[in-house]
Amino acid sequence: MRLIVLGCTGSGPGPTSPASGYLVQAGGSNLVLDLGNGTFGPLQRHLDPWELTGVAFSHLHPDHCADFSALVVHRRYHPYPPFDATRRPLPVLAPMEAPRRFAAQYAPSAQELAETDLTDVFTFHALADGRRIPVGATTVRAARVDHLCEAYALRVEHGGRALVFSGDTGPCESLVELARGADVLLCEASWPHVTARWTEPPTGVHLSARQAGEHAAAAGVARLLLTHVPPWADGEALLTEAKETFDGPVELVVPDAAYDI
Ligand SMILES: [Zn+2]
Ligand SMILES: [Zn+2]
Repeated sequence: MRLIVLGCTGSGPGPTSPASGYLVQAGGSNLVLDLGNGTFGPLQRHLDPWELTGVAFSHLHPDHCADFSALVVHRRYHPYPPFDATRRPLPVLAPMEAPRRFAAQYAPSAQELAETDLTDVFTFHALADGRRIPVGATTVRAARVDHLCEAYALRVEHGGRALVFSGDTGPCESLVELARGADVLLCEASWPHVTARWTEPPTGVHLSARQAGEHAAAAGVARLLLTHVPPWADGEALLTEAKETFDGPVELVVPDAAYDI
């Protein structure tokens, strides 16, 4: 498998990176995990979007799904499509509310929303805790995690290799279980463990870098990649913090970086 970072900034796009988005290539399949603000641009540097096999969304905060609207336009209104998109709807794995919320995100008026049904060019598959969904040559397994809304960590497997993406989550055992023995844990690290505002981070929102390292260690993953660092955070300090709790290789991802898994 190959992981390519489209964007990795947390909570919104930053000056040097779009928000959350990752391309996973395996066995001829092209799966995108999240399409946050600004990620549809770099996606086109790495892949003709017509070659997508599927898109999976960890949750529906805009920094993880805002560019779905760009994909709708591409799929519906590209003047020279290589095939009839209505005959080959693109699989979209997402929380239950996605069809309704993506329609609202796309439609510019109440009138158009009343007529908007995105199932002409997409097939929606609702994620659920423990559910496995095959996408091309990969299998995606979801685990419910502890965030502000219906949110999932996603495990992508192909040919005996496994990548786990945390999505956004506070500390939770379900992420450890999903990531058990994975080759790579792509894990959010949104803030330092101790700040001027707290001595323990709030629960049910995000992981500190220390907690990202703790989850990686508890799951026994081979490698930890830190992501979702907001523009106002010090990435190098977060990297140092994660190394204190995880003995294996740790890196801070950057846009356009590629990793063989
Ligand atoms: Zn986020
Ligand atoms: Zn979120």
